[in-house]
Amino acid sequence: MSTFQELGLNEDLINAITDLGFTKPSEVQEKAIPVLLEEERDLVALAQTGTGKTAAFGFPMLQKIDINSRTTQGLILSPTRELCLQITNELKNYGKYCKGLNVTAIYGGASITEQAKQVKKGAQIIVATPGRMKDMISRKLVDISKIQYSVLDEADEMLNMGFYEDITDILSHTPMDKSTWLFSATMPREVASIAKKFMYDPIEITVGNKNESTSNVSHEYYLVNGRDRYLALKRLADANPDIFSVIFCRTKRDTQRVAEKLVEDGYSAGALHGDLSQNQRDLVMKSFRNKQIQMLVATDVAARGIDVDDVTHVINYQLPDETETYTHRSGRTGRAGKTGVSMVIVAKSEVRKIKSIERIIKKQFEKKDIPSGIEICEVQLMSLANKVHNTEVNHEIDKYLNSINDLFKDTNKEELIKKFFSVEFTRFFNYYKNSKDLRVSESGSSDRGGKSSGTDTRYFINVGRKDGYDWMSLKDFLKEVLELGRDDVFKVDVKDSFSFFNTEKENEEKVLAFFTDFKYNGRFVNVEVSENKGRSGGGRRDRKRSGGRRRDDKPRGERRSRRSENSENKNDRRSRRSDSPKPRRSKSTSDRPRRSRRK
Ligand code: ADP
Ligand code: MG
Repeated sequence: MSTFQELGLNEDLINAITDLGFTKPSEVQEKAIPVLLEEERDLVALAQTGTGKTAAFGFPMLQKIDINSRTTQGLILSPTRELCLQITNELKNYGKYCKGLNVTAIYGGASITEQAKQVKKGAQIIVATPGRMKDMISRKLVDISKIQYSVLDEADEMLNMGFYEDITDILSHTPMDKSTWLFSATMPREVASIAKKFMYDPIEITVGNKNESTSNVSHEYYLVNGRDRYLALKRLADANPDIFSVIFCRTKRDTQRVAEKLVEDGYSAGALHGDLSQNQRDLVMKSFRNKQIQMLVATDVAARGIDVDDVTHVINYQLPDETETYTHRSGRTGRAGKTGVSMVIVAKSEVRKIKSIERIIKKQFEKKDIPSGIEICEVQLMSLANKVHNTEVNHEIDKYLNSINDLFKDTNKEELIKKFFSVEFTRFFNYYKNSKDLRVSESGSSDRGGKSSGTDTRYFINVGRKDGYDWMSLKDFLKEVLELGRDDVFKVDVKDSFSFFNTEKENEEKVLAFFTDFKYNGRFVNVEVSENKGRSGGGRRDRKRSGGRRRDDKPRGERRSRRSENSENKNDRRSRRSDSPKPRRSKSTSDRPRRSRRK
């Protein structure tokens, strides 16, 4: 492993790197920087998002251009305005000690004359989206006839977005003898053909296995009837109260539709797709970054380049057509050393695809069942209890305490707790009490693992994702401390601050005894028998309530959503909102900033 100095970077850059706190080059930087500094050559680099590509081309470009000249010498093309601004910003940081450096961003949706003015001041480097760049060339507002370095960043994405012709056109205005550096996460045919057409004998660099998915992401799939997709999505969200997710749909239309339905149902959701204006997209992204939006519903194209670090779940509302796209999707979570979950909602006919994805990502999916209504109620309740328990008292309420205490003077603690939690629980319970079972079995036969139903115990344990667990590591942990065998702990379901798991009933005593006084990392780990049986079948909720007429009788919101969207009228909509199970989402987001943010 080399240092930045050893890669051959000059003092101005090293000083900026020190300020930025980068201690060592990333793999793509280590491989690309020395070559680009030493040789005038074309380069193709394949590396996933987040691997430090900007500096891989940015440092060499900054070192090689002539800052004393005001001619435009470097051109970086990137697919979106957001990326364009990000790159410009990074380059300015990298070049902060390069006196006289001018980096200008050129993108649609902002004043073209203002951008032209910036260029005229003597921009040595231009970072541009293809559309606006082409526009500026045709109006003769930029001159790229003397550039020495051109970068195609996120090349696969630019081509996905239909920029092939714009790129061709732009490059035709650049000199033959420049160097072209192409960066891409994947190498589909189109990118290969661009490389062939515009590049001469490029050096190729690949970082990691280009198809390998991030290692701290676990993969799960949920089998449902195709028509239950949306209900399944809602349950997945409800079963993960602290979800902060990107939900992928295949088309713009589905993206918009799912987002709208979620909003109607009281979730904090937003849509991100190509039919929105740049301004609308910026707004959605801003809300997502601020966590005002918990569920961002997006198309593959629009979601590329999203660099939000704390995404807890990626949900594949539908599987993508191309297996490779799945890698991109799941790569939106598990970033910056955190763990993440990639969930797929599949219909029976698509299960084959899961197998082929497994082969490509070289990881196994866990087949899981859509949580039952009663499980969700429990999760929500325990999540609230945890939140209340961890809440710091705000002394602003002190002045009202007298009247509140007055009101409750005849209520004892036990009763108060019951009442307090019923406020939230009843909402979910009413919605879910008669909800139907969305599980579908692959073969029509029994559960995986051949566990007999009705003979297991489900437990609640107060550690979860926040403590760094995913289902696998928690299972390992439990097996180890309880000295149980490989298959003795199952149905491990990890939530943010707590989890569930099952064992055979015969192990119940052992488990509870072990955890009566167990401390881990200085903290008591608490395990209790959970009332719901998990997805084991035994002890399922009482269905008599529904009158036995239709087993699949659903709460109003659910039943309605089976009908065609278009048949909804305004009144229906209002009535559904009121019985939506969604508890004040905006409130729960406001306590999220406690989670550490990187920037
Ligand atoms: P990519 O273009 O491959 O998606 P970026 O160039 O945007 O990745 O880099 C991702 C993040 O990592 C940025 O915030 C960047 O500042 C940071 N970064 C880049 N190189 C390093 C490094 N060598 N050490 C630490 N952080 C780095
Ligand atoms: Mg990048």
